Amino acid sequence: MKNTLNYVRPNILALAPYSTARDEFKGGDISVWLDANESPYDNGVNRYPDPHQHELKQHIAGLKGVRPEQIFVGGAGSDEAIDLVYRVFCRPGEDNVVAIAPSYGVYSVAAAINDVEFREVQLRSDFSLPVNRLLKAADPRTKVIWICSPNNPTANAFPRADIARLAEAFDGIVVVDEAYIDFSERGSMLDVLDSYPNVIVLQTFSKAWGLASLRLGMAFASEEIAAIFSRVKYPYNVNGPTQRKVIEHIVNDNINIAENVAEIIRERDALAAALREMPMVREVYHSDANFLLVKFDAPDAVYDYLVDNGVIVRNRSRLLACEGCLRITVGTPEENIRVITLLKEYTQQ
Ligand SMILES: *Cc1c(COP(=O)(O)O)cnc(C)c1O
Repeated sequence: MKNTLNYVRPNILALAPYSTARDEFKGGDISVWLDANESPYDNGVNRYPDPHQHELKQHIAGLKGVRPEQIFVGGAGSDEAIDLVYRVFCRPGEDNVVAIAPSYGVYSVAAAINDVEFREVQLRSDFSLPVNRLLKAADPRTKVIWICSPNNPTANAFPRADIARLAEAFDGIVVVDEAYIDFSERGSMLDVLDSYPNVIVLQTFSKAWGLASLRLGMAFASEEIAAIFSRVKYPYNVNGPTQRKVIEHIVNDNINIAENVAEIIRERDALAAALREMPMVREVYHSDANFLLVKFDAPDAVYDYLVDNGVIVRNRSRLLACEGCLRITVGTPEENIRVITLLKEYTQQ
């Protein structure tokens, strides 16, 4: 077994975390709260929220089949967990990380903010995972390998066995960003956390759960790593209304989410089939997510045409290995029909 604490920056291991008023209170029958300099006038949000998000973590643990102690939650979405990975493991100006390319842009921006060298390894031309090349790009100062599965923007998920092989062989942390896992038939890596303590899995409430505006991201890890994340995070990093709202959605909405996900997957496959029939479409890549990566003969012209008709998609055509590609999010059935109708009319111009 790897001792993952070896990968943590020494100053972080030695950190004495800030102790909030609510940390120092050890329980008891309190009806008068005069410890945190809050306003006493009840308006629903006048009290500080639980800094450790105990109740929320209980619900997430039940939902995901992990222990509450393995969970970190962030109130700035997954981006908060991504930044924490750098701050916990990477010494600025000394350490580096390796990532697949093309992939989610936040990994490299957060590396630059933290003054950490960012080494990119291109996916194979079929977008499969180049495990050996990722390992070869690493050196003793490589602390993290970033994997995104299903990957944004290529839309494909990688085989679990490939990711497990990487975690086995790499002497450092492997982060697997599973923002789109609910749309994929390949299972989550959550069930390997106990056998691979160097794996961190990121998930979010922003996509399948439809709660992007609440900004709740999650990291799942060994209890040791999750505890370190909790010491480094800002004390009250998830606001009270968000904690309450997400609990409400977990309790009430579980079944609706499954129905929504099933509809998005049906719509995705129908949209892909319709696009494949169109003469100006060169390729519709396989998708394990809620979006399609589509290669066009003239992506900029198609993009402008859609915008002129009130439909916005993401132009990824200038990204290496995504030349010619637009990324199209799957919408409601009506929205998808609108896109198909517009593109059919474009073909006939
Ligand atoms: C959308 C997305 C996220 C989620 O970001 P949040 O900050 O949680 O909204 C994370 N990773 C990837 C690859 C994404 O595309």
